[in-house]
Amino acid sequence: MTSAVVQLKKKDFESDQDVRWCPGCGDYAILNAIQRTMPDLGVPKEKIAFVSGIGCSSRFPYYMNTYGFHTIHGRAPAFATGLKCTNPDLMVWLVTGDGDGLSIGGNHLLHVIRRNLDVNILLFNNKIYGLTKGQYSPTSEVGKVTKSTPLGSLDTPLNPLRFALASGATFVARTYDTDIKHMQAIFKAASAHKGVSFIEILQNCPIFNDGAWTENVAKKVRKDRVLFLEDGQPMVYGSGKNQGLKLNGLALETTSWEGDEAPADVFVHDSTSESGVLANLLTEFTDPLPVGIFRQVEAQPYDEALMNQVAQAKEQSKGSGLAELYRSGANTWTVE
Ligand code: SF4
Repeated sequence: MTSAVVQLKKKDFESDQDVRWCPGCGDYAILNAIQRTMPDLGVPKEKIAFVSGIGCSSRFPYYMNTYGFHTIHGRAPAFATGLKCTNPDLMVWLVTGDGDGLSIGGNHLLHVIRRNLDVNILLFNNKIYGLTKGQYSPTSEVGKVTKSTPLGSLDTPLNPLRFALASGATFVARTYDTDIKHMQAIFKAASAHKGVSFIEILQNCPIFNDGAWTENVAKKVRKDRVLFLEDGQPMVYGSGKNQGLKLNGLALETTSWEGDEAPADVFVHDSTSESGVLANLLTEFTDPLPVGIFRQVEAQPYDEALMNQVAQAKEQSKGSGLAELYRSGANTWTVE
């Protein structure tokens, strides 16, 4: 007897926990977008796990009616790696923030990306430590005045997408918390990708860093300050659709024109380009700020390679197990 496929709804992914973020926090919109996306993925709840570290964003697993692990600071990548390698058929989402992911867990994040583990990483970037009440983070701008930098931060901020690309990420995207449709489209594309997907989500923390992204993504300026990347389409932006990006030597630069048609030298987006050069150039831009998929290329995921290796080792193994190996006399010695 075959069991009928049950079409899940957003409600099925909502847990019974009270959501405890500050009023107006961008995390609510991200949670909403994820819960709306889940039913479209066709994956049963018991085949999904959310893993987080520490921080405001890391409360996420409590609110999802799936498996969830609220782990230790910066170490969600290590837990996610173990989980995925021992349960390859599980869909794993890793939730982190700019502090948890890029400072305390920077080293762990690097390795989960370079291994191309088949997990989806959501990095909420609000350019501040929210949970500990407003210290500067690795993505805070130079001069940022906080409780821990009363005279202004001296640190050069880290660009999360450049970090992911440099670590060899096979799927890299950016979205923002005030556009639910855009977030959903990016989450769907990430979940369809085989291998690691890294998504930077521009998130507002109204309590400790209000308006960190407003100059780009506020509704009244968005058309002129955001470039929506679409594969096969020229990189055009602006309310009049008459501005774009073109290549000048080894850099992209803005250009504008009269009329409806973009000139031939306006660059056409191709996220599937193997080299990653274009994706890297795009990470430099802040005005307009590119959002969408920067890079998506194919490569064997780590968990798949690992399972192949385990199968191969079993096939080649002459013995029947560990006990026999111990007693085989091979590679053993006596301590005199
Ligand atoms: Fe959201 Fe900021 Fe409050 Fe944390 S401190 S829950 S990021 S508004």
